[in-house]
Amino acid sequence: MSQPIKIKPKIRLRDFSPSHHAGLHKEATREKTNRLCARIGELQQLLYANAAASVVILLQGMDTSGKDGTGKRVLEFVTPAGVETSNFKTPSHLELAHDFLWRIHQAVPRYGNIGVFNRSHYEDVLVVRVLNLQPARVWRARFTQINAFEKYLTGNRVILLKFFLHLSKEEQARRLESRLANPAKNWKFEINDIKMREHWDKFQTAYEDVLNHCSTPWAPWHIVPADHKWYRDYVVAGVVVEALEKLKMKWPKSREDLSGIKIK
Ligand code: AMP
Ligand code: MG
Repeated sequence: MSQPIKIKPKIRLRDFSPSHHAGLHKEATREKTNRLCARIGELQQLLYANAAASVVILLQGMDTSGKDGTGKRVLEFVTPAGVETSNFKTPSHLELAHDFLWRIHQAVPRYGNIGVFNRSHYEDVLVVRVLNLQPARVWRARFTQINAFEKYLTGNRVILLKFFLHLSKEEQARRLESRLANPAKNWKFEINDIKMREHWDKFQTAYEDVLNHCSTPWAPWHIVPADHKWYRDYVVAGVVVEALEKLKMKWPKSREDLSGIKIK
């Protein structure tokens, strides 16, 4: 008898509301996020002490979706010494002279640390696709290459937590306007953001393909409603705590015999 064919439903971003907040209240949720972030601070010390794994918080999303803000909030109580942040910008000549994963692999944090990727190798199937920087056969092949790369990393004790900060076009307009209107935010405004905004629909399609091709058992994607910053931070902090708790870490025993030591 033939097996029934399992049809995996395709993710469509329009089925997910960027302003979703699960009916939660802002202030009470902020309190919960505070506790989660404090817990991340404690767990990172255990992660550092054991140095048995590293964690990457990978953030993707349209401009103003809060990639910087999320990292800042979630790692609020983590010692800077335990964090390695990477901002992946337009590749340099040196980076372009290598395979697209070269710069990413170098940025993977050492065991014991938490890494924040503000953008990532996914730009190589997002902006590269939308702006036609490479032919389709090149970026299409990357879905498989990315999955293999991520399998390799997770097989080597690198925990990948991938977040798509799902922002609405309307909320982006509000945030860009506030960057224009507020002198303290002017510096954040880039003409390039307006150009990218013109490609909004193409980016959404490209993101959908990423979510459909590159959400794997070893490195699943999390779609995070990002119109409400307080809800976005709560969701991400929760996932990070869960991943760290799963390691069931304890304080490591000293490799020295401490029993006879006297401090003079
Ligand atoms: P920002 O994060 O706002 O400072 O902007 C960084 C810019 O670099 C964004 O417009 C990205 O799309 C772009 N970028 C990042 N990675 C790549 C890449 N692999 N190829 C082309 N552009 C990229
Ligand atoms: Mg920007």
